[in-house]
This record gives sequence, structure tokens and C-alpha cells, in this order.
Amino acid sequence: MAYSLEGRTGAWEVVVGLEVHAQVISESKLFSGASATYGGAPNAHVSFIDAGFPGMLPVINKECVAQAVRTGLGLRAQINLFSRFDRKNYFYADLPQGYQISQFAHPIVGKGNVEIELQDGTIKHIGITRLHLEQDAGKSMHDQHPSKSVIDLNRAGVGLMEIVSEPDIRSPEEAGAYLRKIRQIVRYLGTCDGNMEEGSMRADVNVSVRKPGEEFRTRCEIKNVNSIRFVMHAVEAEALRQIEVWESGGEVVQETRLYDPSKGETRSMRSKEDAHDYRYFPEPDLLPLLLEQSWVDELKAKLPELPDEKRARFCREYGIPFYDAGVLVAEQATADFYETLAKGRDGKLAANWVTGDFFAAMNRTGKNIENPPVTVEALGQLLDLLADKTINGRIAKDVFEEMVETGKMPAAIVEEKGLKQVTDTGAIDAAVAKVLADNADKVAEYKSGKDKLFGFFVGQVMKAMQGKGNPALVNEAVKTQLG
Ligand code: ADP
Ligand code: MG
Repeated sequence: MAYSLEGRTGAWEVVVGLEVHAQVISESKLFSGASATYGGAPNAHVSFIDAGFPGMLPVINKECVAQAVRTGLGLRAQINLFSRFDRKNYFYADLPQGYQISQFAHPIVGKGNVEIELQDGTIKHIGITRLHLEQDAGKSMHDQHPSKSVIDLNRAGVGLMEIVSEPDIRSPEEAGAYLRKIRQIVRYLGTCDGNMEEGSMRADVNVSVRKPGEEFRTRCEIKNVNSIRFVMHAVEAEALRQIEVWESGGEVVQETRLYDPSKGETRSMRSKEDAHDYRYFPEPDLLPLLLEQSWVDELKAKLPELPDEKRARFCREYGIPFYDAGVLVAEQATADFYETLAKGRDGKLAANWVTGDFFAAMNRTGKNIENPPVTVEALGQLLDLLADKTINGRIAKDVFEEMVETGKMPAAIVEEKGLKQVTDTGAIDAAVAKVLADNADKVAEYKSGKDKLFGFFVGQVMKAMQGKGNPALVNEAVKTQLG
């Protein structure tokens, strides 16, 4: 299935709002001292609070609050100095308390926005409605035993940030770009690992369709989609389903649906519950959360540089195109690698090598930026050999491949294989003279107007010199000798 709906929605416009659940990186859970680490033996990280034992009292984890504030700042959002926890009542086997402590009327973070880049390179702002803190639930597993379900409460009570977007998203591509941006921001901030496979980031996908200019129509919410690709597919499948409902004279009913990746379709799960169904009320075991502006300012002052700022700075400081900078800042580790390489060198050349040969080698060898196919020192030395004209660009590619294969430093490879660029004009002149003499017929053709042959002569000379001729000098000599 394609992700794009382009040309397939007729007169309909797709409207999407996402609720992203991002697990907070912290040592302990939101309201208990139990470990918040992923994994561990089932039910090994469970305190009496997480297990919902009567009489247990929640205690707020300051680090989780700080993480939510950092994330809010990263989303350029309003930080609410007053927020409050509410009880959201519902029964679920993996929710032993019988309610979830969440924030309803007074979230810790208010309105903000993120930038996404559309395919044509334009920037669009997606509004953030709010971010609130809540407890994660445990995990029910139905495939471990033929007739029983088992429950692992390790995740129960881990801090979760729910990031709600405005219904500003208009296509599967925009939904994908938005999620990648949120993931990039929380990863830069170190507030969530963004690992959708492990479930530490998940999305509820709200979809409706309308005719352009109309009010919004009824939405459906697709729960717990756990990969960016599936979110894009879910938007596509759900939008097409709703268009068909409306076009055949029916009416879309508000409901909660599930996305089935194996069938590529969404199906009804339950009718949508409203806020009043949850009987929200202020959590009586917790005081309202009051933050001091000075503490928020302190957190703000210590924020790392975020991807949008880094991208702009890379363009400015290293003179590289906006597109290249975007590729380089996609992951913090890649940005660091690039910056180490580019410092004191030609930034554009460094960017070309990282996004070109280096990325290709990474894909080919199955390595990653933490364990790169060549070290940043080795690649830096290669760029230096290019810059001081010890080798030419053609040879540099071969040296690079040799570096990937053997792990040797480029200077050693150049030395060992005698790959130094030939700048001796005597040697170059002799090679040119020989090529022209051996190709007298072509020289005649060139002189009668076949200009294109110039490149042929240069190529032959380079070949005769095993690729080591200085390209500018070779060009020069060919030009002179052809007269
Ligand atoms: P709920 O808890 O009922 O899901 P929220 O306010 O938490 O409500 O989330 C609502 C989400 O649905 C937001 O992301 C919002 O942008 C989105 N949304 C609201 N109306 C529409 C609509 N008509 N079409 C698509 N998305 C919508
Ligand atoms: Mg929802």
C-alpha cells in the first residue's frame, strides 16, 4: 500500500490530530520509587503503589516533572506553573488501581508548536494543544498461555507524557513528518527514547474528512499505533473508509478503532467514550503542582541545542544547504560526528562526505553512527589529504573504501600504495603528449570542431597516470598541447 493519498481523495480534505504517548526517561516511576527501566523479569519493578494496594499514597517524582517541563520547552509551549492531577476512572486488568492518575483540566504544559518540513521543502507549523503527565498502564499478554492471560505490571505507573496536537495535519506524509519531529525533539532532550518498537512512544490517531472550507466533521480515533509507518497507513485507510461512508450517503460515527497492519484496514473497537464517562475528579491524594518560574528558567537555561536551531546554525556556520543540514541533524550523534569533522575544515566538503560515501558505507556494512565504518579522526585525515592536495578526489574515494575494509588510516594507505597526487608538470606533460600522439585521429576530429573529445583526452591521461594526476594541471596541460 502507498502512503500517499494524493489524487485519491476526490473533493475531500483529510484532517488529522495526533495524541502521542511518550514514556518519560527517569529512574523511578511517576508516583513510586519502583524502577522505571524497560525490561526486567515480569513484575520485578512493582511497588505497592503501582499494584494499587489500598492505603498506598502516591508521591510525585520531581525528575518526571522536570522532564515534562523540558519537553514543553522543546515544543515551544506555555509552561503552566499551576497544574493538577485528576483521577480518570476506568476498569482494565492492567490498571490495578481502577483509575489512572492523569491531568485533565489543568495540564502542566499548554499551547505550543513544532515545525515540520513538507516534501517540497516548505515549512509548516503544527499546533500543540497541550502536554500532560499521567501514569502508564501495565501490559496484558494473551499469547503466553492457551487459556489464560498474564499481566506484567513493570510498566504500570511509569511516567507518561501525552502530547496532543491540534487537528492541523492534512495528510499521511504530514502525520509521519510530525511524529518524526516529536521523536527527534524528545531524543535530543533526553526526555523519552522514542522507541516505538518497545512501546515507549505510541500514537492515537484522530482522523476525519471534510470538503475544503467546511467545519470539521466527526472524527474516529485509532488507538495505540506503534510505528510511524503504521500511523501513515492508518490515516490513509481510515480517510478512504470515511470518504466512502460519506459518499454512499452514510454518516461517520465517532468511535474508537483499531488498525490491523496485516489487513491494512481499521476496524471498530468500541463506541467513543466522553470525558464524563471517566468520572474525572481531582486526585485527593495529591496536592496541586506548583512550579516556580525560577526553576523553569533554570531548566530552560540548561536545555541542549534543539534540532531546528542546530540546523540553522549548521547552515550559517558551515555554509551548507538547508537540506543537507536537515539530514545531518536528524540524529544528535550524526550531528556531533559532522561537527567534529567540519571544525576547521571545509564544511561543505565534510557534509558531502558524511551524507554521501560515509552514509553509504554505514548502510552497506550494517554499522551505525555509534559504531561507525570509519572513525571521525580517519575521515578527517582523508579530508586533510584532499585539502592539501596530497590526493585528488578520484583517489580519495578508493582510499575511503580501503579504510572501510581494513580500518587503516588514510595517510598510511596513500603511503603504502603510492597514491599521492602527481603535480610534477613534467610527468603530466609527458603523459599528455603520449595520449595525443597515440590518438592522432581523435586529435584531428577535435581540431575540426568535435569539442566533446576534450573530456576523452583528460580521461585517457588520468587513466595512464593511474588516476593520480592533479585534475586541474592535467586539464591545463591537455588544453595547452591541443593548442
Ligand atoms: P480525547 O481524549 O477525547 O481523545 P483529546 O482532546 O485528548 O480528546 O484529543 C483530541 C485529538 O483529536 C486532538 O489531537 C485533536 O487535534 C484531534 N481532533 C479533534 N477534532 C478532530 C477532527 N474533527 N478531525 C480530526 N482530528 C480531530
Ligand atoms: Mg484520545
